[in-house]
Amino acid sequence: MPAAPLIIATRNAHKTAEIREMLGEAYSVKDANDFPDFPQVEETGTTFLENATLKAVAISRCVDGMVVSDDSGLEVDALAGAPGVWSSSYGGEEGNHAKNNAKLLASMADIPTAQRTARFVCVMVVAQHGQVLAHFRGTVDGTIVTAERGKDGFGYDPLFIPIGHQATFAELGAEIKNQLSHRSRALQAVMTWLQQHPAS
Ligand code: IMP
Repeated sequence: MPAAPLIIATRNAHKTAEIREMLGEAYSVKDANDFPDFPQVEETGTTFLENATLKAVAISRCVDGMVVSDDSGLEVDALAGAPGVWSSSYGGEEGNHAKNNAKLLASMADIPTAQRTARFVCVMVVAQHGQVLAHFRGTVDGTIVTAERGKDGFGYDPLFIPIGHQATFAELGAEIKNQLSHRSRALQAVMTWLQQHPAS
């Protein structure tokens, strides 16, 4: 059976790589980088769901076929949920992971180990022809370390130890991260939904 086409409404190559790896050969995954004419979607929402909806709706208006968006971020309990939906620009510059991580460590400098709890959140919206068809949320709880550890992954991965482990996502590597991440949990729900709603 030919791989079903699926467009991911993101220009973040790290997200697409993880999603492609998790979906395997059943889907032919493309993202907004494969379509230079796609609009740059302003993330003006104040929730993951609002931003994921903005991206999925805008991109699905430009292409035939099923579109899945990913809006994700890190919620730190001691910072009242920050950086949250502003995770990618927390350090002052959109997509600058080094600045984001430095700011997070500085913001948490005085927070004791027991209070360094956090979670990654990922909301995925499935859309077609400008209409939202479904949305799903995945989370993974963990703690924030006091200095970067590990080289794999992206974003806050060197700072986040998932619950039940002793190593950060960046130390654990892609295979383990993809088994338990917020993104894999949301994507699992998307895949189940897609299997129940094959493209017409
Ligand atoms: P978005 O593109 O607005 O969804 O922002 C996502 C941001 O959240 C990224 O730029 C990272 O800072 C952070 N983030 C989301 N998922 C992950 C992850 O799996 N690992 C590390 N950081 C992540």
